[in-house]
Amino acid sequence: MTEAISAQLEVLRARGLEPGLYLVATPIGNLSDITLRALSVLLQADQICAEDTRHSARLLQHYRIGTRVRPYHDHSSPEQREIILGLIKDGQAVALISDAGTPLISDPGYKLVRDVLEAGYPVISLPGPTAVMPALTSSGLPSDAFCFLGFLPNKSAARIKRAAQVSTLDATLVFYEAPSRVKASLHDLAHVLGPRDAAVVRELTKQYEEVVRGSLAKLAQTFDARDVRGECVIVVGPPGEEAEVSDDQILARLQHALRDHTVRDATRLVMDEMNLPKNRVYRLALSLERS
Ligand code: SAM
Repeated sequence: MTEAISAQLEVLRARGLEPGLYLVATPIGNLSDITLRALSVLLQADQICAEDTRHSARLLQHYRIGTRVRPYHDHSSPEQREIILGLIKDGQAVALISDAGTPLISDPGYKLVRDVLEAGYPVISLPGPTAVMPALTSSGLPSDAFCFLGFLPNKSAARIKRAAQVSTLDATLVFYEAPSRVKASLHDLAHVLGPRDAAVVRELTKQYEEVVRGSLAKLAQTFDARDVRGECVIVVGPPGEEAEVSDDQILARLQHALRDHTVRDATRLVMDEMNLPKNRVYRLALSLERS
């Protein structure tokens, strides 16, 4: 460790920690991606709440952090949150970490943050690793406006509905996805969003890190032929200037909506979701019903 790094850690240590909840981002693969401030908070905190204590042990052992660790996830009972709140009320600094990346970003922590704030105690969020940002910036897709949408629903009908809801957003879309569902999601996204540029970003910061770029349809084809492993993010570019929603995209959404709704209700649902004029959607809904 260089003298400058040791000195910086010493400065942080000398400042000490106020009581409160510290949200500490941890590496998403490469352990060197931790920040000096994250290390300092984890070393000095009175307790660390971890999504999975065994999983986090590797990180903590690597940096020889001996702080006491207790489990916390969003299924933890309100009583568990009360206990953590009690520690903060008693003047303790409590750090929250998830298995990887930034807590609360598709990870536990929201309920705890809400409770701590409601009780009037500070929540301090340390910026650091998360998969959203490197996925977006390495995708080669526009990064000026983007929308992070977390995980898509597991079932195809719900996925199609979700994609239709965001189809008119003038922004790059970022989805987290489990490897087992990447193929199906790419097909559904291609079906609803049409010929947009996209990227699948895999295993960020790890040995087999890769970015596969192409149209959604091309990516669906590419991944059909592959055994998808590791952690993946799907990034989809915004609709093109000329890319009005096509009749095929509306028909795809209507087909699903008509399974559970009348023509009139399906029309209303799809026109609201896709922000389209009623006449156009109604005409397509009628044509579907006739056929
Ligand atoms: N809190 C984390 C964050 O800040 O990114 C996300 C946790 S979420 C449970 C896990 C998902 O994040 C994975 O399914 C994948 O979509 C994405 N992810 C996490 N690490 C990744 C990595 N190294 N490469 C690509 N995607 C990753």
